[in-house]
Amino acid sequence: MSAIDYLKKHSQEYGIELNADLEKKLEIYAALLKEWNEKINLTAITDDEGIAVKHFLDCLLVCKYADFKAGDKIIDVGTGAGFPGLVIAAANPEVQVTLLDSTGKKLKAVADMAQAMGVNNAQVVHMRAEEAGQKPDFRECYDYATARAVAELRVLLEYTLPFVKKGGAFLSLKGAAAVEEIDGATNSLKVLGGKIQGVDEFSLPGGDKRAIIKVKKISQIPPKYPRVSAQIAKKPL
Ligand code: SAM
Repeated sequence: MSAIDYLKKHSQEYGIELNADLEKKLEIYAALLKEWNEKINLTAITDDEGIAVKHFLDCLLVCKYADFKAGDKIIDVGTGAGFPGLVIAAANPEVQVTLLDSTGKKLKAVADMAQAMGVNNAQVVHMRAEEAGQKPDFRECYDYATARAVAELRVLLEYTLPFVKKGGAFLSLKGAAAVEEIDGATNSLKVLGGKIQGVDEFSLPGGDKRAIIKVKKISQIPPKYPRVSAQIAKKPL
């Protein structure tokens, strides 16, 4: 079975609707992900079922939870091989997605895959989140920020909330420890003007636990945040 066959098999029970255009794009993505992964280390998940479930389905579930609108601007922080940002762009041609990562060679692969997939509503940005978050071109410009497998929540909030407009939201894709991470992020939320709006918990086929934490941005970020990397690492909020 191909990755798309596995995705079709599982998507209905999660209320995910596929269409021919999205299937074609994801088919190309799965093939190129495997190809690129032989040249650079993009992902540890390389079997078709794993790609379908742990990458594509997991990322498509964000769209269901977020309900993106036409014209929304989304930034995926630490996108790596394009998760969840490139999947979001493929599934929602009417939104604009910025795929940000500090590793240039991964972004080269992501740009190549996006072009081959015919995704033209995504652009890659090679920068650290802490740097980009202080730049007027990025700061408080986005309706949504997303991130998966980048840092613990209290640190991630400092990376992501600076990008989000007041009234927008950060969607954090987490595993089984989501509730503990929320408990540890109380101060970070307070300082950065974030409020937990909800947590959507589910299990992927095969049983892996997942949670999407929705953090609403309720006030502007004080100018000193995000701080430089060394300070964030030394004194996380
Ligand atoms: N989000 C992808 C996924 O779920 O498959 C990639 C996860 S990978 C474990 C973490 C990625 O975050 C890496 O590509 C790394 O370069 C990037 N990253 C880590 N810290 C970052 C930062 N401060 N700014 C930008 N990118 C960062």
